[in-house]
Amino acid sequence: MKTIAISGKSVLVGLVGWPVKDSLSPAMYNAAFAHKDLDWAYLPLPVKPGDVRYALRGLSTLNFVGCNVTIPHKQAISRYLDNVSEPARITGSVNTIHIKEGILYGYNTDAIGFLNALIQANCHPKGMRVAIFGAGKAARDVVFALVRAKADLVTVFNRTAGRAAFLVDDLVDVFPDSRLDYAPLTGEALATLGDDVDLVVNTTSVGMLPKIEACPWPTDIPLPKQAIICDLVYTPLETKLLCRARADGLTTIDGLGMLIHQRAYAFELWTDHIAPIEIMRQACLDGLVANPSATE
Ligand code: NAP
Repeated sequence: MKTIAISGKSVLVGLVGWPVKDSLSPAMYNAAFAHKDLDWAYLPLPVKPGDVRYALRGLSTLNFVGCNVTIPHKQAISRYLDNVSEPARITGSVNTIHIKEGILYGYNTDAIGFLNALIQANCHPKGMRVAIFGAGKAARDVVFALVRAKADLVTVFNRTAGRAAFLVDDLVDVFPDSRLDYAPLTGEALATLGDDVDLVVNTTSVGMLPKIEACPWPTDIPLPKQAIICDLVYTPLETKLLCRARADGLTTIDGLGMLIHQRAYAFELWTDHIAPIEIMRQACLDGLVANPSATE
């Protein structure tokens, strides 16, 4: 594997978040820059809650070309930007900033990253009936992406049903022609699905380290016979849900797909080069071996 050598001419990008010490992104991007022979460098940029406005000013002053944004700044940061893309505005979340001639442009690459991960796995959501588990921040990106991709029906199942209702109402306002529904995340509600579902996406944190034995799909209810099962959790990569789906012979999509594709989209926005997906995935896999609870 090639390594980068930072020079006085290196173009700088980084990750704004708190904490960022366990992030996979520096290894993922620096491997990609080295592979493409780009004199670019990606740095972790720990920014405490409340300090993000100062960090943005600093990035402009220091001639950074952009940054990724992670917890806890993804929602609050948009008010400090000059221009926010439509996906970022509708999802209320900015995870990528591009700085051009002092102007700060905010993007959400999570939604398109999720979609590209599906497409790479040969899953084309147009016309699909989809069950989403969870109604948090990631669910909003995923539902937005699926509605945009013209899924036939998207049902959001959440432990707190009111939160699912809020998410659905919000997106129906923006996409009045979409078919969106919600239900509580209970065995009873899932049992009514039967086999009438083409894609299941877990956006809850259920199954994540350290509680790796947990599964959002109840053990006493069979998984839908033909569905593709996608889990956004990537610590561990093989969650209980994916393990069960694989044992049933179903197609599975792991959480690294979305992570890599959203970062790849940002890579392409900044550099105008095609992102080396496999190099980025390998860097993440190596990072997860070194630190099994690494973050984005
Ligand atoms: P979030 O906004 O805090 O939402 C968490 C969701 O999980 C909520 O719907 C919550 O339900 C549900 N939940 C939590 N514990 C639960 C439990 N014990 N039983 C049932 N539901 C439970 O978090 P987020 O940012 O959306 O992230 C969620 C997960 O997605 C995390 O594991 C994160 O690592 C992963 N993620 C992955 C990617 C990727 O690129 N692969 C991107 C983003 C997020 P309530 O509303 O009832 O609390």
